[in-house]
Amino acid sequence: MENFETQCVHPIRDDKNLNGAVTSGIYPAVAYNYLDDVPLQYPGFYSTYNQERLGQIICNLERGAWGMVFSSGMAAISTAILSFVTHGDHIVLSKDLYGGTLKFANEELPRRGISCSYAGHTAESFKSVLQENTKVIYIETPSNPLLNIVSIKEVCAIAKAKKIITIIDNTFASPINQLPIEEGIDISVHSGTKYLGGHNDLPFGALVSNNLDNKALLFNTAKMYGGSLTPSECYLAERSVKTLALRVKKQNENAFSIAEFLSSNNAIKRVYYPGLLSHPQHDIAKQQMKGFGGMVSFELNTDLDGIKKFQHELKLIKPALSLGGVESLICSPVFTSHRYLSREERMAIGIEDNLLRLSVGIEDDQDLIMDIDEAIKRSVS
Ligand code: PLP
Repeated sequence: MENFETQCVHPIRDDKNLNGAVTSGIYPAVAYNYLDDVPLQYPGFYSTYNQERLGQIICNLERGAWGMVFSSGMAAISTAILSFVTHGDHIVLSKDLYGGTLKFANEELPRRGISCSYAGHTAESFKSVLQENTKVIYIETPSNPLLNIVSIKEVCAIAKAKKIITIIDNTFASPINQLPIEEGIDISVHSGTKYLGGHNDLPFGALVSNNLDNKALLFNTAKMYGGSLTPSECYLAERSVKTLALRVKKQNENAFSIAEFLSSNNAIKRVYYPGLLSHPQHDIAKQQMKGFGGMVSFELNTDLDGIKKFQHELKLIKPALSLGGVESLICSPVFTSHRYLSREERMAIGIEDNLLRLSVGIEDDQDLIMDIDEAIKRSVS
């Protein structure tokens, strides 16, 4: 297979529907003649060509067997989980997860009679909470917001021995940095809103499976819960994916140099970046990731007021939610993604009040470093 840079630009060769056009088009039809020779040609939620094509593109990047797209990452995540668990079942999840997934597991799954256990960052920790009725293991690596790494291979080996389905949220890494299906994962999900879309303007989600056997099951769940992506948004996502490899490569480089800068700054208490030798799971990250990603978290030596002041003092980096886009964004999990957790619950996960999560964009790295440095000087020291 070609290199990712090439594959992103030329995702599907010889699509006869394009009639020789260099780019694809937007095909809004949701109804197709079922009597002639094109019956149910695009069996997407609303039978659109663009959904089918985008699903195929993301599937190819993830090295899966098939893929489908959704109107948000949460639609992809809930579809993946709900396809494999029902009343009386048990699911094991990484304990540090995107806040929305955590809320889904804490509130929505128990309401349906599905029990959850949480595991730390080691495969042993997952093994220790398995039950007879465990049907799914759900991991997020690197995790949000602490950038913890869990060995995909080791978790999958434990799951396979017990015929448990494995699902990963691969949003933070993107297929450019990590190919979980090659490591043994059954299903890889994405908030496409982040790196795949890459411009902070396009909510969507994706799911890629390693086999065709579960296609009908997943498709059925997806269809029942809605969450269909429109043809024009599919087109925009396809357009974004053309620059995915380029963007992620630059974000990897920028994040690395910012992580090094932060590590040497006295105003910073702790830096979380899997590319640093000091990261506790750096060796696992090195083994399963091709790049260490564009997300860097850090603790500033200050209190909650200082955290707010620091963000106000940034001139280039915007304090805003979301991540993975070309613009660098920063957020404080205490005020945003994890605000509904109590302080005790946050501490149990390891989210301190002074934690900041930086999504590094594609700007010049030295400009970003200068912005952070000056904001630190104005707010902390
Ligand atoms: N997974 C991760 C790691 C996320 O950060 C997010 C959103 O921030 C989601 C999933 C949910 O995606 P969406 O906002 O597209 O529903």
